[in-house]
Amino acid sequence: MPPGYIGQVPELPEVESVRARLEPVLTGRRFERVEINDSRLVRPYEPAEVAAELEGERVEAVERRGKYLIVRFESGRVLLIHLRMTGSLRHSDAGLVDDPHRRAVVRLDNGSDVAYRDVRRFGTWLLLERGELEPYLATKLGDEPLDALFTAARLGERLEKRRAPIKAALLDQRTLAGMGNIYVDEALWRARIHPLRPAESLDRDELRRLHRAVRTTLEHGIARQGSTLRDYALPDGGSGSMQDEFKVYGRGGEPCDRCGTPIAKTRVAGRGTWFCPSCQIQAASSSSSAPSRSRRQSSV
Ligand SMILES: [Zn+2]
Repeated sequence: MPPGYIGQVPELPEVESVRARLEPVLTGRRFERVEINDSRLVRPYEPAEVAAELEGERVEAVERRGKYLIVRFESGRVLLIHLRMTGSLRHSDAGLVDDPHRRAVVRLDNGSDVAYRDVRRFGTWLLLERGELEPYLATKLGDEPLDALFTAARLGERLEKRRAPIKAALLDQRTLAGMGNIYVDEALWRARIHPLRPAESLDRDELRRLHRAVRTTLEHGIARQGSTLRDYALPDGGSGSMQDEFKVYGRGGEPCDRCGTPIAKTRVAGRGTWFCPSCQIQAASSSSSAPSRSRRQSSV
């Protein structure tokens, strides 16, 4: 990785922001012509074959599950898109400018184009037949964190008997779908839980705080249309603004918003990890009931 690269990938708020912009552009439109110029995007299938299969399909809905974009066609088929590290989609009414990193273009039946760009080429497009999507995702993804079915008790079940650090458990998409390095660090700060705490060690109060923190952090990210640090862009070329509001991510040495202690950086599960060494204590939560902390708690 180039120096200074911090490995940001689009997470749930970024993918949801892309989905919200694409939905009105794609819904009801037919894929008139499809070009796929990168065999990695659709492997093990042939780009020309996948492109031919997509031509003529009419979009019924654009959905999201975890970090996946789901383009549902009226035929019952689904195009499942994962942006991975550097994938982005761009919609244009006025033709496309040259781009060496463009991997695919969809011409819609109203003459506009949706272009897929990916510098590092880890993104994937997978065309699934009717009925294949749910079993495919079920093996890969846990609960949807903004879904009503996701409760603190449910989170507790997912973390039971897991000795891995809580940060690693939350990065695992089978625990919760859609969280990545940024929003996990932010949620743990909000919940005042140290990233290295064993997942199974969280008590009920901590699970409640974490559950609320996960939702608040993701909702915040969506409201800011995600965070733009490197390659992420919205389909109209715009950027998100969540990066201006990070509490810990990438803020090593800066004062914690809650207590003023400099934010520390460590590594958990091979990922750069930022936390407040005063607010996010590594021992069990008994000290969280200390008066000075509970007073601060109300401002979060
Ligand atoms: Zn702090």
